[in-house]
Amino acid sequence: MTNFAAKIKSLTQKLPNKCINIMEVCGTHTMAIASSGIKTILPKNISLLSGPGCPVCVTPTPIIDSAIELAKKGHIIVTFGDMLRVPGSSSSLEKEKSNGCDIKIVYSCLDTIEIAKKNPKKEVIFVGVGFETTSPTIAATVKIAKNENIKNFSVIPAFKVIPPAMKVILEQKKVRIDGFLLPGHVSTIIGSKPYKFITEKYRIPSVITGFEPSDVLEGISLILKQIISKNPRIEIQYKRVVKETGNPFAVKLLYSVFEETDSQWRGIGVIKDSGLKFRKEYEQFDALRKFKLKIKPAKESTKCLCGKILTGIAKPHQCGYFGKKCTPTNPIGPCMVSSEGTCAAYYKYGQ
Ligand code: SF4
Ligand code: SF4
Repeated sequence: MTNFAAKIKSLTQKLPNKCINIMEVCGTHTMAIASSGIKTILPKNISLLSGPGCPVCVTPTPIIDSAIELAKKGHIIVTFGDMLRVPGSSSSLEKEKSNGCDIKIVYSCLDTIEIAKKNPKKEVIFVGVGFETTSPTIAATVKIAKNENIKNFSVIPAFKVIPPAMKVILEQKKVRIDGFLLPGHVSTIIGSKPYKFITEKYRIPSVITGFEPSDVLEGISLILKQIISKNPRIEIQYKRVVKETGNPFAVKLLYSVFEETDSQWRGIGVIKDSGLKFRKEYEQFDALRKFKLKIKPAKESTKCLCGKILTGIAKPHQCGYFGKKCTPTNPIGPCMVSSEGTCAAYYKYGQ
């Protein structure tokens, strides 16, 4: 870690008057940076900004509201633990669970199949959040359900894909970004090619980075080298896990069940081709279609800055609620709920 810190220091001396904004796109990076105190050892002219890479944070309120609506009708709702406390318009899955709704937490979507088999008289609905890292497993689960003719299982599709969100950040021009630490896990699946537009069109140095503190520091030093050499490209620091071609098997599996669609991101709005919907052959597993759910406009707190935080425009302490009305035990926005949300990371590690 100290070697990389020294390298970063000597590289920044070649850029003395320039303030460098580097965005870590992924929530896991945000937490790794906060918990390891990386910001405290970086030169003052390097600023790290958080990006939109936590699926819990970007899941819009109407998805939570729809899951709550189905739970209140007596159906079984299955979800990842992080989703439980995310606020909907007027309640959360956690509150409804304590009110007696049947809401179950799983670590893998595959467990939903077992729950459906054990409860043949009930509808079992999985809240499908996640990026390219988790959605192939959900596609595999849907395939199993189809092969086994399981009729009481469905998924609320709220998946997101990362590259289109990065385009929005690059187009907004409200904050200058000089480099990206690209997500390690997502890239394991999609590889490095889908990010090519970042360097080809926008000329922003980008490095796919791992999650150890030394990975992050090496990622930053590689970005600085690209800035100095004026040679922006997509580099892979996390070579022990990520290949340029990604995991073509997982990508094929994913797109055999889902296809791209426009999708709403909490606090950001609708982003073209940034979500996944069921292909026709698998539509019977689409909970929105099965239960004729209408996604209504969301009621979101106007004072919560999550949208700005997820696009690098604001930092948590700029939000009037931060640490006062909004804390991890009483979150107002999703950035404080998720274990890898930016506000939660800043609150926990005091930045
Ligand atoms: S908080 Fe949960 S959902 Fe968000 S990035 Fe981390 S693991 Fe994924
Ligand atoms: S502190 Fe709370 S209300 Fe403010 S931006 Fe973060 S999550 Fe939203």
